[in-house]
Amino acid sequence: MDPIEARRIRPGQDHTDVTIVQITDLLADLQATGRLAVGYPPPLVMLDAGNYATDISHALAGHPVQVLVRLRATRVFYADPEPRRPGEMGAGKRHGREFSCSDPAKRHAPDIALSADSPRYGRVRVRAWTGLHQKLNRTGRWTGHPADERLPIVRGTVIQIVVDRLPDGRKPTKDLWLWHTGPAPVDTALVDLLWKAYLRRKLARTAGDRARVLAMATLRAAGGHQAGFGELAINCAERIRALLAQPQRAPGDWSIALPAGCACELCEVLGTFLRHPERRALDWPLAKDKRRHVHARIDDAELPVLHETRRQSRPYTLVLTKTEALFERERLARERDQADLAWLTDEWKVST
Ligand SMILES: [Zn+2]
Repeated sequence: MDPIEARRIRPGQDHTDVTIVQITDLLADLQATGRLAVGYPPPLVMLDAGNYATDISHALAGHPVQVLVRLRATRVFYADPEPRRPGEMGAGKRHGREFSCSDPAKRHAPDIALSADSPRYGRVRVRAWTGLHQKLNRTGRWTGHPADERLPIVRGTVIQIVVDRLPDGRKPTKDLWLWHTGPAPVDTALVDLLWKAYLRRKLARTAGDRARVLAMATLRAAGGHQAGFGELAINCAERIRALLAQPQRAPGDWSIALPAGCACELCEVLGTFLRHPERRALDWPLAKDKRRHVHARIDDAELPVLHETRRQSRPYTLVLTKTEALFERERLARERDQADLAWLTDEWKVST
């Protein structure tokens, strides 16, 4: 049984549907094996930007699971409308004041605010706004929604994380925004747990092989040897051994793989530069909308590449520089893999 592996996305399959099935299968397995009994803390599923946060939260409402999704910094939400005054007629409003991730002037005071010191990120400030929702349109998953039925209002918590520095020493160019929904009420302790969980995962993550990371998280949540998870543990151990057996990156190898997702000519140029084992920098005169596309691709894939605009002559030049984080991340991933394998051998008696 491997609920994760069974759900590779095939061309034409809807990414959101696959994600939802993946999560509900996981919950069913946890329940079937008694690992998700009443009173257990609901597992936390973390997803990247590019996932449809509202759609996934809507589909999982009522399930014993928490969802934490990275948001693009351009997202806009709404509070509930003010209560109707006595005597007001007509259909009530559905959306109250606007909340903008990109515009501080369009944000009310947070419901929860906390700060902490982190050895890797410096001062971390976290703010959370509860009870916000997105305006849905009759597009995407909602195209077929009955015309005489209103689109749902899906409420969740929007969380902003502002850090002093990134683990590789760079200044962050923007804030980190997250969306959270789950069965438990949101309080300071939960928000504190969420930002830590997200940054820890971000640090440990390497491109690709997300399924294995999720499977390991499941095994760790199951805690020790539990019936029904043996095959998943063996499967994880096999994949980790295969990864560790692969040759390590040579010291001077700067090649980076650009994840699939767009086949435009800009991405072709970007991909060629990234793949090149020796080239570390690229000066690329590019118009604004094209620069924006390249910025988005690098950000979405969280590539170890600095991308800055040099504003001298027009068109401005996009300056790309591969950073040492490329090597640091792989070192961390390897350490994590070795620790995971040791833990599997120890706790799950997976033979070596
Ligand atoms: Zn493209």
